[in-house]
Amino acid sequence: MVVRKVIIIGSGPAGLTAAIYTARANMSPLLFEGNQPGGQLTITTEVENYPGFPEGIMGPEIMELFKNQAIRFGTDVLFKQVTKVDLSERPFKVWVGNELYKSETLIIATGASANLLGLESEKKFIGKGVSVCATCDGFFYQGKEVLVIGGGDAAMEEAIFLTKFASKVSIVHRRDELRASRIMQERVFKNPKINIIWNAVIEEVVGKEDTGVTGVILRDTVTNETREVNCDGVFFAIGHVPNTSLFKGQLDMDSRGYIITKDGSTKTSVEGVFSAGDVQDYIYRQAITAAGSGCMAALDAERWLEVQQ
Ligand code: NDP
Repeated sequence: MVVRKVIIIGSGPAGLTAAIYTARANMSPLLFEGNQPGGQLTITTEVENYPGFPEGIMGPEIMELFKNQAIRFGTDVLFKQVTKVDLSERPFKVWVGNELYKSETLIIATGASANLLGLESEKKFIGKGVSVCATCDGFFYQGKEVLVIGGGDAAMEEAIFLTKFASKVSIVHRRDELRASRIMQERVFKNPKINIIWNAVIEEVVGKEDTGVTGVILRDTVTNETREVNCDGVFFAIGHVPNTSLFKGQLDMDSRGYIITKDGSTKTSVEGVFSAGDVQDYIYRQAITAAGSGCMAALDAERWLEVQQ
C-alpha cells in the first residue's frame, strides 16, 4: 500500500490552503473533502473581507478558486467522508468505509458546524422553515415573519440581514441581556423591523409537513409559561460545535471539543498530526485566519517530516 506523505481532512480555507502549500512542497497531498466540499463559506453569499477581492466574492466561488489552486499543484482531491482514523502509530491510518489510506503526517481541518437545539420538531423542519444560515435562505422570506434564536453577534448579524427580506424579525433570547458586542446591539435596537423577545426558549417548532413552519412554542424562562408565536421561519444562531468526533480519545481537546494546538503552532498532542482552521479555533473563525493556519500546518508538517528522515 502507498503511504502518503500527507493526508488532509477537510476542504474549507484551512484544508485547501494546507493542500496548496504541501503540494508546492512536493508532498503530493491527498485531501478528503467531506460531505460539505468548501466548508462553511459555501453556505454564505458574499465574502467582503477576504483580502484581494475589493469588490467582494461569492462564498462558493472563492472556495472553487481555492480548490482549483490546490489541484493545479497536484493535490488529489477526493469527494469522500472519512469515517475512522487510527493515530496510535505511524503511518497513521485513515478509513473511508472499508477503504484504508495511510500517511506519514495528517492535517486535520474538519471545521465546525452550526448548533441546533436537538428538538425532534426542529429536525423535521430543516429546509422547510428551520435554517442555520440567513445568507443562504433569507431570500425565501420576502415579506414574511421570522424568528432568530440567540443573543450573540451571529444572531444580531442574521437578524439585521433578514430585515432586507422579512417584514418582521424577532430575536428570541434566553436571558434579559444580549451577549453581542455593543455596536451590533445598537444596530439591532435602532432597526425598526427588529424586536426582541427576552427570557424565552423554544420548546417546539410547529408547522405542517407539506407547507412547513407556522410558528413556535416559546417558554418564558422566568414564569415558565408557554405560548405559541406565529412565524414563517426560524433561524438558529446559537453557536457552533467543532467537527472532532472522529478524533475523540485520540487527540487532546478542550472542554468544548476543540482540538488543542501547541502555542504558536498547529501541532496537536500526537506527533505528526497537525490541525488548522475552525476545528481548533473558536475565537477568530475567519476564512483568512483559517487559511493562515492551514499554511502553518503545511509548513509544520513539511518540517516535521524532514526531521524524521
Ligand atoms: P456566541 O457563543 O457568541 O453566542 C451564542 C448565543 O446563543 C448566546 O447568546 C447564547 O446565549 C445562545 N445560546 C447558546 N446555546 C443556546 C441554547 N441551547 N438555547 C438558547 N440559546 C442558546 O456565538 P456566535 O455564533 O454568535 O459568535 C461566535 C463568535 O463569533 C463570537 O466571538 C462573536 O463575537 C463572533 N462573531 C462576530 C460577528 C461580528 O462581529 N460581525 C458576527 C458573528 C460572529 P447566552 O448569551 O445566554 O449564553
